[in-house]
Amino acid sequence: MASEREVDIEAFRAHLAQTSVGRRIDEVVIHHTWRPTAAEYRGIETVRGVRRYHMGVRGWSDNGYHVMVGPDGRVFLCRPLARSGAHVSGRNAHTVGVAMIANFDSEEPWEYGGMRACCRAVAALMERFDLPPKAIRFHREFAPKTCPGLKLGLAAFRNAVVETVAEASRMRPKIVLLPENALIDCRAQVEDGVTRVDLRALVEALGYRIHDHLQDQRKLYLERLTGAM
Ligand SMILES: [Zn+2]
Repeated sequence: MASEREVDIEAFRAHLAQTSVGRRIDEVVIHHTWRPTAAEYRGIETVRGVRRYHMGVRGWSDNGYHVMVGPDGRVFLCRPLARSGAHVSGRNAHTVGVAMIANFDSEEPWEYGGMRACCRAVAALMERFDLPPKAIRFHREFAPKTCPGLKLGLAAFRNAVVETVAEASRMRPKIVLLPENALIDCRAQVEDGVTRVDLRALVEALGYRIHDHLQDQRKLYLERLTGAM
């Protein structure tokens, strides 16, 4: 039963992690819908409308795209990733189709409210399928069309996705590796080159505890737990 589902970026990542795709993915092909335009967008009803058009008029089994992004930054899962899309003639077998609901022949891509969400979704796909930036392709490379729009350049879009990947890796929790091969998840994050950790999680894993009850709050007291380590 063909349908669509709105997901936030974390749910999108989780979906990718949990989904067995069962076909080789070599490229992510970017589209704009052209029609409907961003101005014509009406939330998930617009996504349903695209699916109904693809099924009823084009005679396809489902929405031709796997992922659609709205100008409000909402991300929609459309055709299952396990199935080849219907979005780029002759190149559907090993690609994922991502469409922004917009007309970038006339609408401004870098003012588009869904651009950041689209870059994050494409970054998540690249990570999931271990793809390099050159695996980001535009529909117009393979068809006599302007898709995804005359105003959107491939190099600029690839750069925007690469920046998103770098940003995501800076924000992702890191794990501390200890000499004894114990892994401690201390929710570390690197910000501007400074690693910040949840100190309590770290010291307790090392066999210490933090004294909460001493008077001098300006100093931090660690107590070695007996029997630990
Ligand atoms: Zn296209």
